[in-house]
Amino acid sequence: MTASAGWLQELSAALPSDAVIDDPDVIAGYSRDMAMLAPNGRPAAVVFPASTAEVSAVLRIASTHRVPVVPRGAGSGLSGSANGVDGAITLSMVRMNSILELDPANRLAVVQPGVINKALRDAAEAQDLFYPPDPASFDWCTIGGNLSTDAGGLCCVKYGVTSDFVMGIEVVLADGEVLRTGHRTVKGVAGYDLARLFVGSEGALGVITEATLGLRPKPQAPVTLVATFNSTAAAGRAVEAVVTGGLVPSLLELMDRTCIRAVDDMAKMDLDRDAAALLVAQSDSGGERAAEEIAAVGAACERAGAAFVHHTADAQEGAMLLHARRIVLPALEKLGTPLVDDVAVPRSRIAEFLDRTVEIAQDRAVVIGVVGHAGDGNMHPTICFDPNDVAQHERAFAAFNDILEAGLALGGTVTGEHGVGNIKIDWLGREIGPVGLRVHAAIKAALDPLGIMNPGKIFTRQSMVGTPLELAAVGR
Ligand SMILES: Cc1cc2nc3c(=O)[nH]c(=O)nc-3n(C[C@H](O)[C@H](O)[C@H](O)COP(=O)(O)OP(=O)(O)OC[C@H]3O[C@@H](n4cnc5c(N)ncnc54)[C@H](O)[C@@H]3O)c2cc1C
Repeated sequence: MTASAGWLQELSAALPSDAVIDDPDVIAGYSRDMAMLAPNGRPAAVVFPASTAEVSAVLRIASTHRVPVVPRGAGSGLSGSANGVDGAITLSMVRMNSILELDPANRLAVVQPGVINKALRDAAEAQDLFYPPDPASFDWCTIGGNLSTDAGGLCCVKYGVTSDFVMGIEVVLADGEVLRTGHRTVKGVAGYDLARLFVGSEGALGVITEATLGLRPKPQAPVTLVATFNSTAAAGRAVEAVVTGGLVPSLLELMDRTCIRAVDDMAKMDLDRDAAALLVAQSDSGGERAAEEIAAVGAACERAGAAFVHHTADAQEGAMLLHARRIVLPALEKLGTPLVDDVAVPRSRIAEFLDRTVEIAQDRAVVIGVVGHAGDGNMHPTICFDPNDVAQHERAFAAFNDILEAGLALGGTVTGEHGVGNIKIDWLGREIGPVGLRVHAAIKAALDPLGIMNPGKIFTRQSMVGTPLELAAVGR
């Protein structure tokens, strides 16, 4: 009998027989997310709750026995934040996948956390409504994962990120208590904004079991623009011109030459393989307004020195251009194991950041493909390398850190949307400083005094589990 058998037996007694899995082969499939090089441990069990009451039962048992719990959605994360912890429970939320309510009159949806982002978008669209947050992984990532990473995506430049749509949540706290917070009204300021405290908390403060999310009216069919440039700096200048010119496209995405060629190799799309950078923009304002917006974006590109500008109202052609952007990551995977970075810089400094990335690739002798949500200044320089080559491995991680350093130096942040996870745990303090870290630690200690929720992520160490969180160890 293993040391964990006691709590495992309690879990098996409290939940249906198929909800607790300790088969090592199954567990292996739940031990990591899509950040291929982030460290991961081996959970003792994977648990599949089907209701808030079951989540609550799991956390009561975990608290009693001081067993760490790692909440998990689809595992599409890119920071190691859903990665398994040795001896822990990985709590997969995929069975809680119902859209509980769609309320067109109040433009809101109430959903369970395992709902796939695309399923909510489709359900909203059927009612002439729109759920804008659209990570490029939208067809398989979950709303719970989106909430817990405050996911962004392609539409953020116009519509904002996940937290901009959160009205209320239900969350099971570390000790099993259920907190319902937020509102169904457009306005509501009673007390601290606890709902948003849990948004972006990467499963480290509790388990989200329900969310009330705002919806918007369905947008018009998009007009799409594509522009190519002979230098990344010129593309950066075009983005700056669009933003500082007061234009608000519904999407403004950038790919550099490495990404263009990787996509063209994979999908044979007849892209301009010699272009240094490609921008894709859309307007979903409809009719003349969309035509005017796209014409203004095109003019900004031409002033910045674009080599080629083309726009189309044809839905199929627009979807094809967007498809090129969406498949960048799988295309880059053909060049080597991707180490995806995620830095957001002020939009007025995008050109400088792109230049710095080119220098880093040269200095470290690594391949870096840059793709990003240019309209938000959120860039994903992706280092492609052979992890079995020790020298390349070292150079790739050095480049990863150089990119974070460059982002901070330009007044940016070390993560625009993927989260800190365990891959950037040493960088949070550098960005938010000792006072910021102490406030984080105080909140963590108040909500998860035993440190069982997703240890080893964001800023906590796995060694802290079971002991009251020492603020001194974290922030001083
Ligand atoms: C090809 C590709 C493209 C991507 N594009 C984007 C993009 O454009 N924008 C973007 O923001 N991200 C993007 N991502 C990253 C990823 O898809 C997002 O971070 C997404 O929000 C993760 O959702 P998930 O369901 O997979 O969560 P997971 O990866 O399973 O978990 C992510 C975090 O959420 C926590 N969590 C999950 N469910 C709950 C819950 N119910 N309660 C508490 N905590 C929970 C986990 O503990 C973990 O910390 C991309 C990933 C891939 C592979």
